[in-house]
Amino acid sequence: MQGIFTNAYRNPAATAIVADGHAYTYGQLLDASALMATQLLNGTTDLAEARVAFMVTPGFDYVRVQWGIWRAGGVAVPLALSYPLPSLRYVIEDTDAQIVVADTAHAQILAPLAAEKGFRLITLGDDEPSLQPATLPNLTPERRAMILYTSGTTNLPKGVVTTHANLETQISTLIDAWQWSSADYTLCVLPLHHVHGIVNVVSCALWAGATVQFMPQFSAEAVFDTFAEGRVNVFMAVPTIYFKLISYWESQPAPRQEAISAVLARFRLMVSGSAALPVSVLEKWQGISGHTLLERYGMTEIGMGISNPYVGERRVGCIGKPLPGVGVRLVDEANAEVGNGQPGEIQIKGANVFLEYWNRPEATQNAFTPDGWFRTGDIAVVEDGYYRMLGRDSIDIIKSGGYKISALEIEEVLRTHPALSDCSVVGVPNDEWGELVCAALVLKDSSVSAADINTWLREQMPAYKIPRQYRIVDELPRNAMGKVTKNDLKPLFQTA
Ligand code: ATP
Ligand code: MG
Repeated sequence: MQGIFTNAYRNPAATAIVADGHAYTYGQLLDASALMATQLLNGTTDLAEARVAFMVTPGFDYVRVQWGIWRAGGVAVPLALSYPLPSLRYVIEDTDAQIVVADTAHAQILAPLAAEKGFRLITLGDDEPSLQPATLPNLTPERRAMILYTSGTTNLPKGVVTTHANLETQISTLIDAWQWSSADYTLCVLPLHHVHGIVNVVSCALWAGATVQFMPQFSAEAVFDTFAEGRVNVFMAVPTIYFKLISYWESQPAPRQEAISAVLARFRLMVSGSAALPVSVLEKWQGISGHTLLERYGMTEIGMGISNPYVGERRVGCIGKPLPGVGVRLVDEANAEVGNGQPGEIQIKGANVFLEYWNRPEATQNAFTPDGWFRTGDIAVVEDGYYRMLGRDSIDIIKSGGYKISALEIEEVLRTHPALSDCSVVGVPNDEWGELVCAALVLKDSSVSAADINTWLREQMPAYKIPRQYRIVDELPRNAMGKVTKNDLKPLFQTA
């Protein structure tokens, strides 16, 4: 990530970060991160890829720690603020982190673990010595830079190792594709332990010399109040956040609605990703803001791979086209490329693709084909050059009675029913059918029954796609990225 520091040195007086009502310049970030690096080095010359975990609220401190780890030659391991102690322990043990940095809000949580495991716990604010900045090591591109854990949507999270070169490719690709510039100002409401927040929002903005404002606690009202100040022109979020913003907007009186819409109309770019964007959300947001959300597809392992265009048609219901420099192919089970309109697994090749799963050589090996393509496990089709996601092979592609049924397609149809506020479709093991299509429904109109929905759905879809069992739930289980954790839903249904 040498380039992010080089760029910062070019314009030290520009505002890099706005947080807690303060503005911080690139110069301040460079100075503070050099001191952080010095403290981490503790008299040595290079952390030499030692893993440094950190638990810090998004803001100036967060970035100075992250930059400090990089500048000292360490591997940055962001800890999720929402993690309970066992998950923190899992990441710290898995990465064998010998140094952990925390702000005062989080140091207490980690102190018992530090006492037990003997890692060095650096608490920000308290014991920061006044130091002469050390000479910092040279960061060659092939060095390991970061370990991010996957969202754990399907399994235990895996540590994904990216090199400096991987990150630089991921960032520069997006800066070109989405036309980031130093004039941009973005509001970050996403957690920073996943690629969406830390790469797409924060690192792209800071690489481009733009400004990032942090809002560690999401609230729709606060987001719109910040937008109303008129500086934000780029916004990226997951579908559930857009859903919450829409619900808030709908609850407001007409003058407030109009004021919000007028501000949104002036934005340069609004992006959605991390999970499938429901067409209903895209359309409502179009009505509110005048913008067609730019939907893109990415993973911890690859950064962003496929994106709707910045200029040109953003196709509704599609994740777009391969980003420049990213090799994308769709293959069948025999690893042969499929034709247009045929479903296949998305495989990715390019300098953006991660180095390895941390400490899991077998998982790393299984994740790549013999000819070096990364197997995403996601199934898509290409129509007219645009990729459309059918879902994860392991969980969204339901194998029932010889058919392969996309849960995402059924969810998309269900969502058009006016009595539903949310839904999720899963496959449940069944002796006769292999798997049964089952649906969890969140109702906004409780006078409608699952039987009514079923009758309606039969008029919309072929019989083999119709769920065999329904459950009405108050809300769907979701992880930190707003993704439905479908494995938690499956036990609701009877298996046979
Ligand atoms: P785990 O690998 O631990 O099960 P995860 O796959 O959710 O968790 P991430 O790397 O954060 O972890 O998420 C990548 C996945 O998110 C992709 O493989 C894909 O299934 C899904 N995804 C990302 N963008 C989109 C999108 N625009 N539409 C549909 N799904 C998406
Ligand atoms: Mg995954």
